[in-house]
Amino acid sequence: MMGGHHAISGAAAWVAVTSTVPFTLGAHPLPVASVVFGALVTAGAALLPDVDHRSATIARSGGVFTWGLSAAASTVSGGHRHGLHSILAVAGFTVLSAALGRWDAVVPVLGLVHAGSALLLLALVAFSSKALDLTRGGTAMLWLSSAALVVIVLVRAPEQLEWLPISVMVGVVVHLVGDLITTAGVPLLWPWLPKPPRVVRSIPGMRHVWKASGYVALPVIGNAGSAREWVLCAALTVYLLYGLAATAGVLGLG
Ligand SMILES: [Zn+2]
Repeated sequence: MMGGHHAISGAAAWVAVTSTVPFTLGAHPLPVASVVFGALVTAGAALLPDVDHRSATIARSGGVFTWGLSAAASTVSGGHRHGLHSILAVAGFTVLSAALGRWDAVVPVLGLVHAGSALLLLALVAFSSKALDLTRGGTAMLWLSSAALVVIVLVRAPEQLEWLPISVMVGVVVHLVGDLITTAGVPLLWPWLPKPPRVVRSIPGMRHVWKASGYVALPVIGNAGSAREWVLCAALTVYLLYGLAATAGVLGLG
């Protein structure tokens, strides 16, 4: 799946999990600010597994710094669509974001700040803004505008930090689902890549689902970037905009 489409599906999943589903079940959705800002953050989290790809959104978002980060992540995880596209990666990204949330630092003027969470939010907002083409003016403008937004949110609504690891988990899971439904598939159980037994391979169509490489796929949208992928993302965009408007009370529901 393409970067922008991963971002949109991450944002749509966040709105579904924190607003539509609780609302439908008669429970309280998250506060409006958490749904709206969380959608932007989860869109960025939905790009994280592709940090293993040196020309994907994350690598291109911050010059040599993010390119170097991407090159290192790619090398350590075995290359694109290897270790960072597995269940282990979901756990790793979630634990890492929770650990970052415990890092506080004393900053001149501001005093004690949640440095780890703030930096993670900054990165995720910058990644999603890049993928969704939300800013103009190059790399410096992208990071400055993202930093301004994060500072405003943390000053006015610091409770936003409570859901950050959950947002990361939702984003990474949605990314894996997005790649799972393409023909390339994902190595879900990496580093274990079980090969399909002969009896499974003999079932018509199964070689596209449980591949000889050990990757698995449910290729309902075909190749990455297919017309079906664009149709799916158009539908998700409509749902996302409707969900955000309904959450913000623009539609006068409830
Ligand atoms: Zn991917």
